[in-house]
Amino acid sequence: MRFFLIFFVVFPFLLYSQPQVPNNYFRSPLDLEISLSGNFGELRNNHFHSGLDIRTNYTEGHPVYAAADGYISRIGIGHYGYGKALYIQHPNGYTTVYGHLKSFVGEIDKHTRAHQYKIESYEVQLYPKAQQIPIKKGELIAYSGNTGGSGGPHLHYEIRDANQRPMNPLLFGYQVLDTRAPTIEKLRVYPISSTSHIDHQSQDKDLRITPQTDGSYLAESIDALGQIGFGVASFDRLNSVENKNGIYRITTSINGEPHHEVRFDIFSFAETRYINHYIDYPHWKDSKIKIQKLFRPINNPLSIITQSPSNGYVNVEEGMSYLFEIVLEDFAGNTTLIKIPITGKEQITNTVPQLASEAEIYLAQKAHAITQGKFHIYMPAEAMYEDHALDIYASNDTLFLHNDRIPLHKNITVSFDLNEADLETPEKYFIGRIPKWGKPRHYSTQYKNGKLSIATRDFGVYTLVKDITPPTVKPINFSDKKWISNNKTLRIEIKDDLSGINSYRATINGKFILMEYEYKDNSLTYYFSDHIIEDTENNFKLIVIDNVGNSTTFESTFYRKEL
Ligand SMILES: [Zn+2]
Repeated sequence: MRFFLIFFVVFPFLLYSQPQVPNNYFRSPLDLEISLSGNFGELRNNHFHSGLDIRTNYTEGHPVYAAADGYISRIGIGHYGYGKALYIQHPNGYTTVYGHLKSFVGEIDKHTRAHQYKIESYEVQLYPKAQQIPIKKGELIAYSGNTGGSGGPHLHYEIRDANQRPMNPLLFGYQVLDTRAPTIEKLRVYPISSTSHIDHQSQDKDLRITPQTDGSYLAESIDALGQIGFGVASFDRLNSVENKNGIYRITTSINGEPHHEVRFDIFSFAETRYINHYIDYPHWKDSKIKIQKLFRPINNPLSIITQSPSNGYVNVEEGMSYLFEIVLEDFAGNTTLIKIPITGKEQITNTVPQLASEAEIYLAQKAHAITQGKFHIYMPAEAMYEDHALDIYASNDTLFLHNDRIPLHKNITVSFDLNEADLETPEKYFIGRIPKWGKPRHYSTQYKNGKLSIATRDFGVYTLVKDITPPTVKPINFSDKKWISNNKTLRIEIKDDLSGINSYRATINGKFILMEYEYKDNSLTYYFSDHIIEDTENNFKLIVIDNVGNSTTFESTFYRKEL
C-alpha cells in the first residue's frame, strides 16, 4: 500500500493512461494491409486530422466494409469536405465514419438516390432511423474513392465516441508496422515574458541539434533568464511508406521531472481550430513548417495537452543550470530524445527598448469596430487569441487588413459602402481576398442598404470585385445531334472565372437528372444507369449559375437506344 502511495506521488504522470476502449471490436474497413498516408492528430490547416487516411494503392473502387455491427446513422454527400461519406452507429456507442467514397452499394445507394431525386440535389445529408439500414460487421457498404476535399484516392476512416469526439483509431487495436522513431525537423526556443532573454536576446531562436551515438540529439546549450518555452517540429515515418505522418505523444521534463505532455488520443471538433494557437502560426505562414509549442499559452483550452502543471514554461533563475528534455513518440512506442542544457545567466547586454509601433494595439478580450475609408470591420471579443498591434488601412476599393501571420479564431465582419455608380447592380459584386498569387478568392457576400458584407477568419488584403462573366459549359463525351447508345455517362465541364460555381440543374426532356459535381476536374457526370430516359431523341438542358447570379443555359440533343 505504502509503495503505491509513493509511486503515485512521485510519478503523477502515470495516472494518465490511454482511454479504455474495446480492443479488436472493429475490423479493418478495407481488405488491404493498413498503410497510412495520414494519421490521427496530424497537423492540418486550421484543424487536427480526425482519423486515419488509409492508402488504397493510388486507385479508387476498393470494397469498403462495415467495421462492426450497427446501422447507417448518417449519409453525407458534399462537393467538398468528406465528399461521399457514411456513418455507422454501433450498439456500444461508437460511430465509425468512412469518407471520400466513390459510391455506395445496395440499400444505401437506393435510399440515397431516391432522396437526391426527391430534393433534386446531389448534395444531401440524411439521418436514417435505427431500423432503416441495419449493417452487419464485414458487410460491403461502399467503394473507396477520392470525392470531396481529398488529394488522391484513399479512405478517410474515423472512430468517434458517444459524444461524437474523434478518437485515435489505433487505440482500438489496428496493427500498423512502425519501427522507425520520429524525426525532429526543428527546435525553437521562445522568451515568454517581456523581461526574459535567451542568449542575451529577447527574441525567438532556432537551436542547432547534433545527433549523438546513442540515437538521441543534443541541442546547443543556451544562456537564459526568466520564463522561456520550447517548440518542436517533427514527423514520423512508418515502415512501409515514406510520407510524413504526425507523432503521437510529446513529453518534456526538467532535470528529470515530468513537465508537459501532449497526446493524440481524443479531441473534440469544437476545439480543433485552436491548432492555430497551438502551433507557431507566424512561423508556419513564413516557412510552411508547423512548430508545436510545448507550452500552453493563455486562451488555449486544447485537451490534447494532458499534463502541464506549470503550463510547460521553464523559469530560468540566475546561477542555476537545467537539463530540458523532449521525448517524441510515435504510436508504436518508438522514441526520439532531445536534450537541451540551459544555464541561468543575468542579462549582459541591455535589451534595445522597443520603439512604439505606429500600429494600434488591439486587445483580444475586447470587441472592436474599425472604419477605414469605405470599409468597416467588426471584430468580436476573443476573435484573436492574444493582443496584437494591427496595421489596418484602405486605399480606394482595397482593404489592407494587417496580414495573415496573425490567426483569427472567430469570424470578423468586413463591410464595404458600395460606390454610388455601382449601386445599380449590387448583386454583381463580391468582396474577395487577394491571395499571395492568383485571382481574388470569393467570399459569400451579403448586400443590404448600400453595403456589402462578408464574414471571414483571415486577415489579409480584401478588395471589391465585379463579376459579370457567366460560367462556361463544354460537353466532354458527347456532341449535339449524335448517337451515344454506348455511353455509360453524360459528362460536362463547367467552369467559372471569378466568383465560382454556385449551383447547377440538369434535365432530360424536362425531367430532373442527378449530376455529380467534382470540383477537382470541373466535371458534372450523369449515369445512364439511373434510367430516366425512355425516348430515343432526347433534349438535354443544363443551367449553371455562379456565386453572383450570372447564369449559362446549355442545350443539346442526343439519340440513344437502351442496349
Ligand atoms: Zn483524412
